[in-house]
Amino acid sequence: MAKVTLSNLRHSYLPNPQGAEDYALKEIDLDWDDGGAYALLGPSGCGKSTLLNIISGLLAPSEGRILFDDRDVTDLPPDQRNIAQVFQFPVIYDTMTVRNNLAFPLRNRGVAEARISERVAEIAAMLEVEEMLDTRASHLSPDNKQKISMGRGLVRDDVNVVMFDEPLTVIDPHLKWKLRSKLKELHQRVRATMIYVTHDQTEALTFADQVVVMQDGEIVQIGTPVELFERPQHTFVGHFIGSPGMNVLPAEQTGTTARFEGQPVSLEGTILGEGGKTEIGIRPEFVTLADQGLEARVRKVSDVGRHSVVEAMVGDTAVKAVIEGAVPGQGETVHLAFRPDQTRLYRDGWIATEGRA
Ligand code: ADP
Ligand code: MG
Repeated sequence: MAKVTLSNLRHSYLPNPQGAEDYALKEIDLDWDDGGAYALLGPSGCGKSTLLNIISGLLAPSEGRILFDDRDVTDLPPDQRNIAQVFQFPVIYDTMTVRNNLAFPLRNRGVAEARISERVAEIAAMLEVEEMLDTRASHLSPDNKQKISMGRGLVRDDVNVVMFDEPLTVIDPHLKWKLRSKLKELHQRVRATMIYVTHDQTEALTFADQVVVMQDGEIVQIGTPVELFERPQHTFVGHFIGSPGMNVLPAEQTGTTARFEGQPVSLEGTILGEGGKTEIGIRPEFVTLADQGLEARVRKVSDVGRHSVVEAMVGDTAVKAVIEGAVPGQGETVHLAFRPDQTRLYRDGWIATEGRA
């Protein structure tokens, strides 16, 4: 178990990278505490696997260093980094039994047989695969193969870091939630530093204490699930996290005032700076129907269980509101109010209002 430090990391798959667009990872600086549960969240192609493979040593970065507990491991091969990696698709030996698959990483390291049986039993119990221990891996369903693959990642108790790269991809939807909470529980028991990579916000937010949100080879925000929800540092985070995502509305700034569709809007605090492309960010959860406020015409109402999502047009811009209880009908005129302490200005994507402590 170790603290992981990434320092000035950049990576390009091209031999002679020119501009920033040639880099799969642009500039990554990170400190991950020993024993933490982290998620790397971002859309497909943003550089998550590239980053994982650099940490595990499968890939050498174009620039920058990787440190485990302040020891530079940048030039060490994967087998000397003491890392367990679980991939998107199961990596197991089909001809071996489940028991032998789980034991393999330990046998490989010369662990005593008595300890191996103990550890295999523990992991099998955690993953609830005890009754499969003597089954040949080739006979398992894809779900179970991936479970065993995870077990192989978790079986050693001397690893620096356990990394999961979209491990639930092949898992049936109805089993996903179960394995998701299982992994969280496993982290609490194993206490290893774990890095979980996914493009699925639910998986990231359930598993991690800290989520690193990536876009286009860059980190846009690192925070707890609550921080990411409550105060997105970038419109991308606001939009990517939450269901529906944050409303990002075109805005005009004149001095200390921001306007949306010509109407002044109260913000969480003072506006910082000027110029650039300005937008207002407000989550649908903080938009309410009021007697006064922005006039809007209801375009769509969706019942999503405990509440409804009302989409209303203010001029040419759609605004979503999460409403509990009675909802207006399609085509009706309503008034929308934005909760000021949850309303922010963004400049060129980045937050540009000062929050109140
Ligand atoms: P993610 O895991 O977030 O989906 P990747 O790290 O796999 O993203 O990919 C990041 C970018 O690097 C993408 O543009 C992808 O096309 C590119 N890329 C990934 N692997 C390679 C490779 N082996 N050779 C060239 N380009 C690659
Ligand atoms: Mg990937």
